[in-house]
Formats: sequence, C-alpha cells, structure tokens
Amino acid sequence: MGMVGRLTRFKLRKTPADIGRALRFVISDAGANVPYYRTAFEGAGVVPAQVKCVEDLPRFPMTDRDRLLASGHEGHLRRGVDRQSLFKRHTSGTSGTPITVYMNRAESLFRKASLIDSFRRNARLGFPMALVDVGGDRESDSKDIVQRLGLVNVVRIVRSLPMGEQAERLRQVNPTVIEGRPSMLCVLAQELSRQGIDSVRPKLVVSFAEVLYPHVRKLLQDTFSCRVADYYNCQEVGNIAWQCPEIPDRMHVNPATVVLEVVDEQGEPAPCGKEGRVLVTNLYNTTMPFIRYEIGDRGALLESTRCSCGFVGQTMHLIGGRDEDFFVLPDDREISPRVIYAIVVHGSPLHGLGNEFYRAVRAFQIVQQERDLIVVRVVPGPAYSRGLWKNLDSNFKALHPSMRVQVVEVEDLHPGPGGKFKQVLSRVARARGTS
Ligand SMILES: [Zn+2]
Repeated sequence: MGMVGRLTRFKLRKTPADIGRALRFVISDAGANVPYYRTAFEGAGVVPAQVKCVEDLPRFPMTDRDRLLASGHEGHLRRGVDRQSLFKRHTSGTSGTPITVYMNRAESLFRKASLIDSFRRNARLGFPMALVDVGGDRESDSKDIVQRLGLVNVVRIVRSLPMGEQAERLRQVNPTVIEGRPSMLCVLAQELSRQGIDSVRPKLVVSFAEVLYPHVRKLLQDTFSCRVADYYNCQEVGNIAWQCPEIPDRMHVNPATVVLEVVDEQGEPAPCGKEGRVLVTNLYNTTMPFIRYEIGDRGALLESTRCSCGFVGQTMHLIGGRDEDFFVLPDDREISPRVIYAIVVHGSPLHGLGNEFYRAVRAFQIVQQERDLIVVRVVPGPAYSRGLWKNLDSNFKALHPSMRVQVVEVEDLHPGPGGKFKQVLSRVARARGTS
C-alpha cells in the first residue's frame, strides 16, 4: 500500500478510492515521520492504520496555524528534509500569524499541475495555454517542466508595472486564462476600457484571494466576454475548490489536492448544508503535512451527488469573507461581509447603474470603524453624486437603530498587508468562539 499511496497522491483526477489511498498514505507518513503529528495522534489515542476512507478522518485531532508554528520546524516538517532545498510559500498574514509552507520539487510541481487541471475542467480548455497572472509582487520563477514542455506559458504581470504597460502586456500575450485578485483585475479591466482595448479575449478569468463581489464580476464579464470563476485557494493547499460552471452558489472541491471537512464550534462534524469552520487535509504534501487543519474560513458541505456540470465529488458553499471580516453589531449579532455589501450596493441607486457603475464610483470600501459606526470610503468617478448614498443611513438603521454611517471621499484606496484589498473590512475586535 505504501508504494501505491505514494503514487496515488500525485494523481490529478482522484476517484473516491484514490482519495482514500492518498489519505492513508499521508496520515501514515505523518504519524511515522513528523514529530508534531506523532505526538498529536498518540495524545488522541489514534493510529494511522485506522484510516480506511474519508469517513474515518474525524477520529483524528484537529490542528491550526498556531499549533503547527508552536512545534517549530523540527516539529512540523518531515524528519530528515533539507530545508534549504525545499520550495517555500508564505501566507500573507492578513489573518493571523503568517506561516511558511514547505514542499519538495514533486509536490510543488503537482500543486501547479492541479491548478491548471482545474482550469481545464472548469472551461474545457486544451493545451497549449497561455496563463497570465495579474497583480503579483514578483517576476516569474525559473521555468518548470510544465512550461518547458511548452504546454503552459505563464506570464506574470506584476503590480509595480504602470497600468498602461500592464494593459499593453496583456494585449500582446492574448491569454487563454487570466488569474488574479478581483481588486487587481478590476483596475486592469478599467484601464483596458480607458485605452479602448477590446481585443483581449481569454476563455476564462479566475478570481481568488479576495471576495468576488457582483459589481467586479460584471465588469470582468463585460470586459473579457467570458466566464469569470471564483476560486478558493490557499498557500497551505493550493487550489481547494472552484466555482461550479452551472450553479454559481456552489464550489467543487479539487479531488487532486484536498479533503475538506466542516465542523461546528465544538469541533463536531457539521451536517450537510450547515455552516461551520472549514478544515483541510492536504492529499499530496508529506514534507509539511496539513491534516484536519483549520484554515480560518466558514463554509458548508453540500450533498456530493453528481452535479449538473458533470462533477462528482465533494461540493461546498463558501461563506464570503474570513471570520474577522464579519461585522459585530451593538447587540452582538455577526453580519457577513456579503450582507453588508448588499446593504450598501443593492440598497442604493448604484445597483441600477449597470455599466455606468464605474463612471460613478471608481472604487469603494466599507469599513466598520466602531460597533455603531460604518464608514464608506469612496473614490469618485466622473458621474459621481452624493445622492447615490441617500438610502444608506436608513438601511443600516434597519439593521440596528443605533448604527451611523459616514461617507468619505478619498483620492485612492490601497491594499492592506500582503497586497490584499478588502472591499468590506471590520476594525472592531471580536471575541472568537470557543476553539
Ligand atoms: Zn457543478
């Protein structure tokens, strides 16, 4: 089983049996070779041989970023690895402590291949493909095997490049897939329209790392005339899930990379459809394993019956926004960023503007400054008027009568730590649930 599991973990389109095999291999290997997990399994009185399939996973202990970090490199890396020779990915640190994720060459390559395969499944793409990554902060890595074979040409357009040059670069490459954070894609799309460039015709636009709000989705669809898919990615796993092409409200979990669980505040498995905390188990990384790892997002698992798009496997609903972006009202109710967004945009004349939206408002950000104070920061466009916000006060008062709203016009809005822009942001400290 050892050898088979070793190979199965690098299979892209894993069947349920493959997932069971990869899971057994990853857990056995961690129990044998990674001190943190060895201790954690012993403490919980479980042995890796008890894992036969995904359903056995809840017997094993949960973990999170702080616990892994506390164990040190000696604790959470596989025994005997040479840290200098490994590939590293850093989490942004926008939410909690940053962590460095280590992988060997094969794992790093598989992580890229699984993302590209998810693009292919999503939009029925063939090879070769040109992939443009927008808004990163560094130039291309050295070319890996996928690129050297000429299957995928990856072009990075870094955010330090002036907007005019970014647009020109995009026009030259004529990409099959464009990926980036919605805030970055949005600025680039506005620049293309400013320059009158309408020849960029990708097959798929992929949005990740920030919540994809409806006004941004609409702009991207109008600019690129193609499907815009929301992706759920993280540094610890790579691609976790992609938005279903048929039913926008659900996401399909990537069977190559991960098994996903949702648990309640007590850590018990949440029933289908019930919202809870997302746990991931990485199916390919044995250098630095993530087993029942709390990623800091909220979501719900849905029935895994065959979807109308043809996908078979784990399906989920992701609750937009990380835990700390929920607004806490004076009566302690917690309101999701998507609801706050809907109050501001759908409850205003902005909603009726359609394509004129960006002429009125170039960019905006909704900030909970204090429990009872919402500040909307807005970069006005040529067609801006203060009348756009006329319903704002009464809409928030309907949420709670003591809420106040201020609209502040600014020249520019800047991304936060790690280049991540938050459309909806809370500055109010919030007591975490028991964990
Ligand atoms: Zn589907």
